[in-house]
Amino acid sequence: MIKAIVTDIEGTTSSLAFVKEVLFPYARANLADYVRRNIAQEQVKKIVAATGQEINAELDTEQSISQLIQWIDEDKKVTPLKSLQGLIWEAGYQQGDFKGHIYPDAVENLKKWKAKGLDLYVYSSGSVQAQKLLFAHTDYGDLTPLFSGYFDTLIGGKKEPQSYSNIAKNIDIPPEQLLFLSDIKDELDAAKVAGYQTAWLVREDALQAKAGHLQVSSFDHITL
Ligand SMILES: [Mg+2]
Repeated sequence: MIKAIVTDIEGTTSSLAFVKEVLFPYARANLADYVRRNIAQEQVKKIVAATGQEINAELDTEQSISQLIQWIDEDKKVTPLKSLQGLIWEAGYQQGDFKGHIYPDAVENLKKWKAKGLDLYVYSSGSVQAQKLLFAHTDYGDLTPLFSGYFDTLIGGKKEPQSYSNIAKNIDIPPEQLLFLSDIKDELDAAKVAGYQTAWLVREDALQAKAGHLQVSSFDHITL
């Protein structure tokens, strides 16, 4: 008996393309301008200071901007960069420059499951702040009321069984009563080791033989 659902975002509720082709390029394109315009704000000042600290150097605003862009190009997940991307996305969502993508079948079924009394949680490698922003600004309105909690990699890596145990403990539901949804087999394997039930969202690729997990092309094919 499933009591709650823990879902991944990228490739599961939402398209990979939205994150890769909309969110990240938007943050890069707007980074310099955003920092220059908001440098008087405490949060931005702190990010600039933290950027220098990260490389043990004293950087002015323009040098910090160059460093932050360099990290993006090197695909470094550095805290000041992640914080800044969160602020830039927040501004982008608020200005209506883009909406958080979510597949129609995901919205429909998440709503249905919530109405049936299941609790819904998010576990994604994007920061909790970024997760909330995405679900707060979708074509279907603010979906954050659907979710009872959000987890990012602060709870542990997505391919480590311990992370799933931590989440189960945190929400106080036995792992056997949790269903984890993801598009990545290693994550599903880790959740299964922790005792979760699993469903593999295979939206674009072909179904795999001997997957060891229920495979579905849409949330419509998950029956609880
Ligand atoms: Mg994913």
